[in-house]
Amino acid sequence: MSSSEPTGHPLLPTVTATGLIHHPYAPPADFAAPMPAVHKASTVFFPNVAAMRTREWKDKSAYTYGLHGTPTTFTLEERIATLEGGRQCLLAPSGLAALANVNLALLKTGDEVLLPDNAYGPGKTLAEGELRHFGITHRVYDPMDVADLAARITPQTRLVWLEAAGSVTLEFPDLLAQVRLCRERGVRCALDNTWGAGLAFNPFDLDGAGLGVDVSAHALTKYPSGGGDVLMGSVVTRDEALHLQLKLCHMRLGLGVAANDAEAVLRALPSLPLRYAAADRSARALAAWAAGQSAFAQVLHPALPGAPGHAHWQAVCGAADARGQGAGAAASLLSVIVHERYSSAQVDAFCDALRLFRIGYSWGGPVSLVMPYALEEMRQRWPAHLARGTLVRLAVGLEDVADLQADLAQALAQTLP
Ligand SMILES: *Cc1c(COP(=O)(O)O)cnc(C)c1O
Repeated sequence: MSSSEPTGHPLLPTVTATGLIHHPYAPPADFAAPMPAVHKASTVFFPNVAAMRTREWKDKSAYTYGLHGTPTTFTLEERIATLEGGRQCLLAPSGLAALANVNLALLKTGDEVLLPDNAYGPGKTLAEGELRHFGITHRVYDPMDVADLAARITPQTRLVWLEAAGSVTLEFPDLLAQVRLCRERGVRCALDNTWGAGLAFNPFDLDGAGLGVDVSAHALTKYPSGGGDVLMGSVVTRDEALHLQLKLCHMRLGLGVAANDAEAVLRALPSLPLRYAAADRSARALAAWAAGQSAFAQVLHPALPGAPGHAHWQAVCGAADARGQGAGAAASLLSVIVHERYSSAQVDAFCDALRLFRIGYSWGGPVSLVMPYALEEMRQRWPAHLARGTLVRLAVGLEDVADLQADLAQALAQTLP
């Protein structure tokens, strides 16, 4: 087009920087496709000053700034809240940031927080580091002894963290009794719900009669992302005032998530129940097989009869919940305790000999993972319900289970005769 031709828009006499930035074209509004659009923004425009002064982001009625929410993050928040049986959700840049959001919003100097001995390790280090520096004390309780938890609740206790099943050792606690206890003692409880993912049980209605936690934190990094390529966390609640307390802290800490990451999770969510169920089936088959291997002194998987907390798992996950979900779900993790007659160097060699199971942290993606753990460095004392030996955690991915079993068998034969 020559520069003398009319363009139909006063701002676009020709191609200029201004013309490219303030281009008048607006696509038609009615676009519908399987995936919601990705809205990327730090700046959000207001039509006028009055709108800038009156728009409210806290109740999601309008947009004010990227950190306060976009259509993409609002959409993901609503879906995660629904997944977990909650009403409100906040997104954080990692699962650990979600745990930090809960701690920093609900605790102040002089308060005490209780953590299970099998809590997610980096969450414990937050208590030992920043929380301690801020004058917030923490105490560790035995996740398999409700009386121990009861004895540790004091007038200073402001928050009890729960985890089901526990990290690495996968014991399932008496979650119903733990939550009832917190209710009776008037202490808030927050669940790290990464293992259950909103699918194995409803954290806000554990017994079908409304018994639930106050806060459910979730590493979306695991199953909801499903790819091993996104870090994200969520904080779900059912109480508006509690949500607002968490939200204001979330905003002041600047815990934003990137639109492309939110999109990746939105894209993976429709297949979440299928992926979770498939990996669960494989993990269960491998746990049953591992229980017959003499090199393993113990197999830890809550659905395995005789495993620590099996009855508690059955009580919470054994039947479908009121939403029709659950019905015996048990995630995709199993741990084995390699018999103490083998050296830790032999256990390392076992992990190195695996071909399909890759050595790496995290779980919930397509690739199966293996990681050895030195339990004696992670626990206050060796739990009585665990055999002595070296623990190896297996995170089962989406490969064919027969291939995974063959991989474990060849590594066993080679390194743990
Ligand atoms: C992975 C994990 C987290 C932390 O998630 P990140 O996104 O890696 O920070 C928290 N809790 C549990 C139980 C986890 O497995």
